[in-house]
Amino acid sequence: MLDLAIIGGGPAGLSAGLYATRGGLKNVVMFEKGLPGGQITSSSEIENYPGSAEILSGLDFMAPWSEQCMRFGLKHAMEEVSRISKNADGTFTIALSGGKSEQAKSVIVCTGSTPKKANFEGEAEFFGKGVSTCATCDGFFYKNKEVVALGGGDTALEEALYLSHICSKVYLVHRRDTFRASPSTIEKVKNNPKIELILNVTVKKAYGDKTGLNGIIVVDAEGKERDIAVPGVFVFVGMNVNNAILKQEDGSFLCDMDENGNVVVDLNMHTSVKGLFAAGDLRIKASKQVVCAAGDGATAGIQALEYVNH
Ligand code: FAD
Ligand code: NAP
Repeated sequence: MLDLAIIGGGPAGLSAGLYATRGGLKNVVMFEKGLPGGQITSSSEIENYPGSAEILSGLDFMAPWSEQCMRFGLKHAMEEVSRISKNADGTFTIALSGGKSEQAKSVIVCTGSTPKKANFEGEAEFFGKGVSTCATCDGFFYKNKEVVALGGGDTALEEALYLSHICSKVYLVHRRDTFRASPSTIEKVKNNPKIELILNVTVKKAYGDKTGLNGIIVVDAEGKERDIAVPGVFVFVGMNVNNAILKQEDGSFLCDMDENGNVVVDLNMHTSVKGLFAAGDLRIKASKQVVCAAGDGATAGIQALEYVNH
C-alpha cells in the first residue's frame, strides 16, 4: 500500500512529490507516463519563473526538478494511469493502462492539460506531416521556410516569435483582431518584421499530398478566401484538461467537477473526496502557469502528508 500516489510529473506533480517526501512520507510514487517535466518541456523558453533570471528552454528548466525530488525518495513509475477509484475502506485503487493496479492511502491528481485541436478540414490527416502543436519539437524542420502559427493566446504568440528565429516568415493566423496574450508579447510580435498578422479569418482547410502539407486556405467574414502556401502549420488554440482518469465505470466523475471539466478544489487543494487532492492546470480557476502549478503541488503535498499522518 502506497502512502501517496501522485499522478502526473509536471511542475505540480514534482512539487507535490518534493514536499510530501521531504516532509517524511516514505512510500510515495509519481506515476508519469513519459519523462517528468510536463507540458512546459515543449516550450522554447520560460522567462517568467520568479527567481530564475536566466531564460532557459522548458526542457532545461525542468531537468533539475526531478533530480531534486528523487534525492528525498520520490519514486517515478513510468506508467499511464487509466482510472482512480475509491475503495470501501477509504483507500484508493490506481488502475494502470497495462492492466495492473496499485493501492494508495491518498492520491494527488496532477495530470495537467494537452493541446486542443482546431478542427479544420485536413488537420488530422496532416498531423505529423506538416501540422504540429510543438514549435520546439518540429520548428527546425522548417528552417528558412515559411510557416503558419494559428491562435491568439500566449502560446501562439510566443511560439510565433520562436519560429521567427528559425523560419524565413511566420504567418500568425487568428480569428479575431485582438489577442489574449500578454501585452509585452503582443508588442514583440507586432514589431517583428518576419511575422505577418492575418486576422479575422478562420481556417477552411489544410491541403497537401502524400509527401505532406502544402498549405491552408483561410476565409474571412465576407467569405473571401486566401491561400497560404506553407509546408508547416503550428496549431496553438488552447488546452484541454486531462481529467479522464477520474471518470468511473458508470460515466460519473469520482469527485466534483465544474461545467468545463476542471476539478473543484478548496484553497488546500482538497477535492470533494477525502484523501484525494488535485493540483495544477486541471483544477478550477487555474492560472495555468508553472509557478502556480508548483505552488498548488506544494500545498497538495503538505495536505496529503497531514492526511496520511493523521
Ligand atoms: P502538466 O505540465 O500538463 O503535466 C502533467 C503531466 O501529467 C504530463 O507530464 C503528462 O504526461 C502526465 N499525465 C497526464 N495524464 C497522465 C496519465 N493518465 N498517467 C500518467 N501521467 C499522465 N507557463 C509559464 O509559467 N510560463 C511559460 O512561459 C509557459 N509557457 C508555455 C508554453 C507552452 C508551449 C505551453 C504548452 C505551456 C506553457 N506554460 C507556461 C504553461 C505551463 O506549462 C503549465 O501551466 C504547467 O506545465 C502546468 O503544470 P501541471 O503540472 O499542472 O501539468
Ligand atoms: P488560450 O489562452 O486559451 O488561447 C487560445 C487561442 O486560440 C485564443 O486566441 C482563441 O481565440 C484561439 N482559438 C481557440 N479555438 C480555436 C479554433 N478552433 N480555431 C482558431 N483559433 C482558436 O490558450 P494558450 O495560448 O495555449 O494558453 C493557455 C494557458 O497557458 C493560458 O492561461 C496562458 O496564459 C498560459 N500560458 C502562459 C504563458 C506565459 O505565461 N508566458 C505561455 C503560454 C501559455 P479567441 O481569442 O478568439 O478565443
